[in-house]
Amino acid sequence: MGLLPSTGAGAVNAMQDAVILANHLYDIKPTSFESIKQALSDFKEERFDAVKEQYPQAEFAAQLQFGHTLWERVLRHILFNWIPKSMQLKRMTKDNAYRPQANFLPQAPKRGTLDVISQKPSKRIQKEKEEEEAKKHAVTVL
Ligand SMILES: Cc1cc2nc3c(=O)[nH]c(=O)nc-3n(C[C@H](O)[C@H](O)[C@H](O)COP(=O)(O)OP(=O)(O)OC[C@H]3O[C@@H](n4cnc5c(N)ncnc54)[C@H](O)[C@@H]3O)c2cc1C
Repeated sequence: MGLLPSTGAGAVNAMQDAVILANHLYDIKPTSFESIKQALSDFKEERFDAVKEQYPQAEFAAQLQFGHTLWERVLRHILFNWIPKSMQLKRMTKDNAYRPQANFLPQAPKRGTLDVISQKPSKRIQKEKEEEEAKKHAVTVL
């Protein structure tokens, strides 16, 4: 069982992978074997479990949308007709909160009303800012 195509999970995860990988590649500085290894391992750490978690969810969603057994049909009827809108909205809010952006570009503003998980800052930009501050401080002291 893979991710479910009809939910767009393949495409969404491919784009999220690309954004997160770009963020980690941007942080490679100075370029060395160790820093490349670190960036790829950080990428795996950030994405692997999050994607793995989606496989059982995709299997359940497939049963729910396309299952033909009596149990699957009953479950579909209950979930699509009886679950209150507030619970559906809660689920949707949770699922849509993860919207990573390229952290080395100006951030797209939040225009909607749903929550957004805050963006992990770029390690490289943070380090460069700290170095800049330290330089300014050194000049002021002199
Ligand atoms: C039949 C089918 C239907 C699908 N339908 C949907 C759908 O309706 N909705 C949905 O969301 N998802 C769908 N998916 C899943 C979706 O297409 C994939 O999850 C998504 O394309 C993965 O994107 P990716 O960039 O990670 O990998 P890929 O799209 O596989 O891109 C990887 C690229 O790397 C290239 N490559 C590989 N190895 C090398 C190498 N050594 N050197 C250079 N290049 C290399 C490949 O040629 C390829 O172009 C479907 C998949 C299939 C097979």
